[in-house]
Amino acid sequence: MGRYWRPATLGEALDILHQERPRILAGGTRLVRGATPADWDSDLLDITGITALQGIAREGDGWRIGATTSWTALLAAPVAALRQAALTVASPQVRHQATIGGNLAARFASADGAPTLLALDAVLEVASAGGRRQLPLVDFLGGAGLAPDELLTAILVPAAPLTGFAKHGSRQAVNVAEVTAAVRLDIAQGRVRGAGLALGGCLEAAQRLPLLEAALLGQPANASLADLVNAEALAHLPLLDDFRAPAGYRQDVAVTLLRRLLGALTRQAAA
Ligand SMILES: Cc1cc2nc3c(=O)[nH]c(=O)nc-3n(C[C@H](O)[C@H](O)[C@H](O)COP(=O)(O)OP(=O)(O)OC[C@H]3O[C@@H](n4cnc5c(N)ncnc54)[C@H](O)[C@@H]3O)c2cc1C
Repeated sequence: MGRYWRPATLGEALDILHQERPRILAGGTRLVRGATPADWDSDLLDITGITALQGIAREGDGWRIGATTSWTALLAAPVAALRQAALTVASPQVRHQATIGGNLAARFASADGAPTLLALDAVLEVASAGGRRQLPLVDFLGGAGLAPDELLTAILVPAAPLTGFAKHGSRQAVNVAEVTAAVRLDIAQGRVRGAGLALGGCLEAAQRLPLLEAALLGQPANASLADLVNAEALAHLPLLDDFRAPAGYRQDVAVTLLRRLLGALTRQAAA
């Protein structure tokens, strides 16, 4: 059995991380996956006692989501896509324990937080004993890592009134995603002024769809917007082709989910 710390302050946690380099433990729901007896000799830094890392607060025009905010807390998030994603994650028991920070830091293909926050232009706040920095989520998912003495402290999310998330898998509950899609639309005077579209579950890491986003800009925000999404628009993506689902099937599902989300958001904007 390794050593175990559960500090009450971020400063204490960062000092321990700097000096002892333990593994970070948040909800532990991903960390335990595939753990072997040897893993239990690891030193663990439990960050769930640090209140500064918990909860959702206003920051500027947007929101600051503490890294140990649970998926249960995200069921009441002020951003629709996050609420919708939280509803699809695991089961009530796991959602109560699992954190958004652990979801992103674990870097796995079916992490539901990744496409959702990517479409929202989220930025990670990272801290070490040496100071704080910000890291755009798009860079983190593209491979930019955290240093061994760094902790993800919060996710910064710009305000976004029109957002949505959808997930498809082989069952309704405790569902590992075959495809997830997230959309953010900024509509002014009946036209698309800004768009964030992202896919997850069907790629090694969630990705934005910049070509499709560019095609949406300036278009009338009505039912015809969804017609811009087709197989050709997603053909360049290296979709996963594995035991969960073939790439062609994932592509069909991705088109359907994105179309549905665009349709729902344009109807919402018109209402
Ligand atoms: C039954 C079951 C069903 C699941 N279903 C889903 C699902 O539907 N969708 C989904 O997305 N996930 C699912 N998961 C995976 C997992 O529960 C979630 O992704 C969860 O959000 C992980 O958070 P955690 O706090 O438990 O992470 P942990 O297990 O505590 O940590 C995961 C990794 O991130 C690191 N880490 C954690 N927090 C930080 C931080 N603040 N800074 C730096 N590194 C950190 C840890 O060191 C570890 O390497 C499921 C898991 C289980 C067991």
